[in-house]
Amino acid sequence: MKRIFPLIILLVTLSLVGIIVIQVSWFRSMLLVKEEQLADRIIKAMGMTGEELMAQKGTLPSLKNKRARPNLTWPSDQLMMELMKPSTISEKFTTFEVQEKLRKNFNAHGLKDTPFEFVITSDAGFLAYDELRSKGFDSVVEDTVRNRSYVYLLQVPGGSNLEGLVPEEAMVVVVPNVKHIVFRELRWMLGGAILFTLILLAAFYVTVSALLRQKKLSEIKNDFINNMTHEFKTPLATISLAVDALRTEKVSADKEKMQYFTGIIKEENKRMNKQVETILQAALMDRQEIQLNKRPVHVHAIIEQVLENFELQLQSRNGHADVQFNAKDDEIMADEVHFTNLINNLVDNAVKYSKDNLQLKICTNSTGKGLQIKIEDNGIGMTKESVKRIFEKFYRVHTGNLHNVKGFGLGLSYVKTIVDAHHGKIKVDSTLGKGTSFTIEMPYAK
Ligand code: ADP
Repeated sequence: MKRIFPLIILLVTLSLVGIIVIQVSWFRSMLLVKEEQLADRIIKAMGMTGEELMAQKGTLPSLKNKRARPNLTWPSDQLMMELMKPSTISEKFTTFEVQEKLRKNFNAHGLKDTPFEFVITSDAGFLAYDELRSKGFDSVVEDTVRNRSYVYLLQVPGGSNLEGLVPEEAMVVVVPNVKHIVFRELRWMLGGAILFTLILLAAFYVTVSALLRQKKLSEIKNDFINNMTHEFKTPLATISLAVDALRTEKVSADKEKMQYFTGIIKEENKRMNKQVETILQAALMDRQEIQLNKRPVHVHAIIEQVLENFELQLQSRNGHADVQFNAKDDEIMADEVHFTNLINNLVDNAVKYSKDNLQLKICTNSTGKGLQIKIEDNGIGMTKESVKRIFEKFYRVHTGNLHNVKGFGLGLSYVKTIVDAHHGKIKVDSTLGKGTSFTIEMPYAK
């Protein structure tokens, strides 16, 4: 299972990259093919225009008028006539006319929206010049990167008397932004390809993140089971030892020793009860079954009661609790059981995550918004990254294990849930190595 996961990611990534690469190269060749097709159509349209121009070039306008037509019988006269005919296109057509013809043929070849500029050049061998030039030709002819030019030679039909006598003419058509035109033709395909690739990527992302989350969850679960085993094994072992001791005659005869060992058993029993309680709390939160039984409670009394339970622990660790009840009004609407657990968890953490000589400081204040409770310790502190995550369920700082304390990473997520359920606020300030302070603000009872 551990190996399959990276393998799947690798394979899917590879095939995704492959598909994208293939699509890109396919699209590129598609562009080339389309460009060739476009060129083909343009040349065809130019060819037709050229034929039309050449067919009419050789006819004298006056010859249409039959009455004006002189009776030409002598070959020399015919040659004269031939020489008198307009020999170049510019003598017969205006720029506008050529443009119209080109447009018509472009349209006939499915190039309705294709813009173009053209020029008709004449090359008599010694003299080359532009006979006709469309208005925008100069501006587009220079850019050979984006614009394409197509040349069509306007040839005098073979066998004509004029072959070799008249200047050679050519038609050059420049189509601006050929890539753009081709792109436009392919836009649906391109859009579709991009869309489906994106969908594929999104699906891949969702799948991988779901898998990763699953993996993290299973790690958390393992951690949790390990911690739980530890948490239960220690008291069980202690109880077992205490019971063994009680069984010996030396102890059973001594009342004081009996007291001592039964005390240990009672303590360990309490500890285990607390663990079960924590896990049950988490399970309750999971099912969102927290039902608050809100009543007016006095926060100062609750804090005092919690601190009483920690007195022994504080003493044994040479710790000291400094309590300042500055709040004038300490009555809030809260669920007494949950609120007590909340304070208990915070004090418990302060004790758990500090070295000896713990200076625990608890103070309350009345602010405009509610009752503020601040619980401060001079313990091991946390990094900024840890602070961001401590309210997450099961999150534990791994270097945070002092005195071999193990936890489930549930305490603070419970605290956060309870504070939220009471519409309160909680804030953490912590410096690694210096200490941590939790500030809670609970709204007053209305
Ligand atoms: P647990 O104590 O069971 O590990 P919590 O949710 O109570 O779980 O705390 C999460 C983590 O936050 C702890 O593992 C600990 O590293 C860190 N932490 C909590 N309170 C303190 C504190 N007062 N000082 C330093 N670290 C703390």
